[in-house]
Amino acid sequence: MEYRKLNEERGRCLECGDPIRYGRQGRKFCSPQCKNSYNNRKGRDSRNVRSRVRNALDKNYAILRSLVRMHVESIDLLSLTAMGFNENLVTSYSKSRGHTLYMCYDIKYFKSDMRIYSIEKVSSVKEAVGVSANL
Ligand SMILES: [Zn+2]
Repeated sequence: MEYRKLNEERGRCLECGDPIRYGRQGRKFCSPQCKNSYNNRKGRDSRNVRSRVRNALDKNYAILRSLVRMHVESIDLLSLTAMGFNENLVTSYSKSRGHTLYMCYDIKYFKSDMRIYSIEKVSSVKEAVGVSANL
C-alpha cells in the first residue's frame, strides 16, 4: 500500500515540480541541487520556529523578572497580555494539589482563569532543576 503510494507520487521533484525522468524508484528530487535547496529551506523553517519561540519566552521572562523586581506577586492576564506576555509559553509545568505550577526558566507562578499569582524567582538552580525534573 505504502509502496504503491510512493510509486504514484514518484515522478515530480518535491522542490521544483519538474518530472523526474531518470534514477531509481522513489526518487524525490530531479537533481542534487533541488535536494539541497529543499533540505536547506526545511532547516531554515525549523530554525525560524525555534527562534520565534525563544524570543517569545525571553520576552515572557523579561516581564516576569520585572514583576519580581517590583515585588508584584499577582497580576491579571489582561494586563500581562497588554505587556506582550504569551501565557501559552512556559519552560515547564507541573500539577500539585489541584494547582498547576508553571515555570519560565527560574521564575515560577500559578495561573487561574483571570490571573497569574505567587510569582517568584526560584532561589537556587538546584530547586529549579528539581522542579523541571518532576515533569
Ligand atoms: Zn527539481
